Amino acid sequence: MHHVVVERWSREASPLHSLDARAKLCVLLVFLIAVSATPSRAQLAFAAYAALLLAAMAASRLPLGGLARRAALVLPFSATFAVVTWWSGQPLRAAGLAEKSFLSGLAALLLIATTPMGRFLGAMETLRAPRALILAIQFLYRYLFVISEQAQHMRLAALSRSGANGGRVLHFQAAAGAVGVLFARSWERADGIYNAMLARGFEKATGGRGQESADRGQGTEDRGAEVVRVRNLHYRYPDGTQALDGVDFHLDVGECVALLGANGSGKTTFVLHLNGLLEGEGRVEVCGMPVTKDNLAAIRAKAGLVFQDSDEQLFMPTVLEDVAFGPANLGLAPEQAAARAKAMLEQVGMGGALHKAPYHLSAGEKRRVAIAGVLAMQPEILVLDEPTTFLDPPAQRGLAKLLAGLPQAKLLVTHDVEFARSLATRAVFFEHGKVAGEGSVDEIVERFGWRPLGATELVRHD
Ligand code: ADP
Repeated sequence: MHHVVVERWSREASPLHSLDARAKLCVLLVFLIAVSATPSRAQLAFAAYAALLLAAMAASRLPLGGLARRAALVLPFSATFAVVTWWSGQPLRAAGLAEKSFLSGLAALLLIATTPMGRFLGAMETLRAPRALILAIQFLYRYLFVISEQAQHMRLAALSRSGANGGRVLHFQAAAGAVGVLFARSWERADGIYNAMLARGFEKATGGRGQESADRGQGTEDRGAEVVRVRNLHYRYPDGTQALDGVDFHLDVGECVALLGANGSGKTTFVLHLNGLLEGEGRVEVCGMPVTKDNLAAIRAKAGLVFQDSDEQLFMPTVLEDVAFGPANLGLAPEQAAARAKAMLEQVGMGGALHKAPYHLSAGEKRRVAIAGVLAMQPEILVLDEPTTFLDPPAQRGLAKLLAGLPQAKLLVTHDVEFARSLATRAVFFEHGKVAGEGSVDEIVERFGWRPLGATELVRHD
């Protein structure tokens, strides 16, 4: 399991680690104010600040070299300030600015490296920092992990293809390209996380226009037995790919349907329409409501999406906070949101992991927490995209049992025929962005030759 180094440092022990987070935050603020208010010519004062930081670094018992290397990340920013100021004809001020930004960066790093993020955010809350600022820091922190994870994956992939010479894998040109790809991939991943946040009512919480439509969404009596109804849905991606080409589909109350089909047949694109993360041409109704901008908040509360990659779905610092994210967006008070989150975590068998960081869990545990996060919205429909991916057989069995016990209507997008057979009463087969057939799982598997291959079939050459 990969960890961001600073995160690991923050959990170690030293006199600086054991100080109260609020006290540290106050000291940091005073330090930042003092540094920025010190005139640039007062070099002695800067020396004193540096000595103070050195003493704090020593008290943190963290590796000085590692701290210095991370602090050096601030240098390009300090240098940019300095060069700009120099250009405008104030060399002394330029030097002062560079020193100030470096010292401030180092002090902030020291606080973060000696305080677990949860406690840091808690301290900000008790000191009444604006909610938006706390949320922004939380997401920045999550994105730091995203970039770091992505960099780690790419480094491992590069190492595995580095041949015998190991060590220096990337030469300059390749490294520059890799940095570009790193940011593009991190961006994509961040986009996925943002989608997961939207799916749990995030926009509603920040946009403020949701409650009314959520209330309107309660009137679901006259829609008959259908919780999802889709007619003639088309969707084309901006690059011209026609991913959906006239889909008709329905899902009944309490029913469990398996969505099968080849890679690229449009399954994921389709499910993203069910809670308005994509908007195509045609008609999509969820619990009697058309999926339109005005209804999004209500729709997202009704149709819970469990993403294929749980790492995208789990974005808060602890399991409990993550599951409470959705209910809080529904407008529940923090204690109520936490109580509901605890109940859902109990239901999925994760009541013992409330204060763990989601990224420290196993794949099966992450999936359970992701499901708890969706259940906490009290949806009528659960949409699960490839729920068995990354799960070992015991975790798959556990998941099937958990899902079988949930009363909601379910749509399972899966390649796992056995999993589909164990849960679904109907299967729908996608081909080229259309429904090519439906029936029982066995009928569909037979009709489209969708049986899992045996070992001898996998290697047959014909
Ligand atoms: P499935 O989930 O069945 O594997 P998808 O819905 O992911 O299928 O993809 C359907 C089609 O849309 C594929 O041809 C895929 O390449 C294309 N597609 C998916 N996402 C994008 C995107 N963001 N931009 C362009 N094309 C995409």
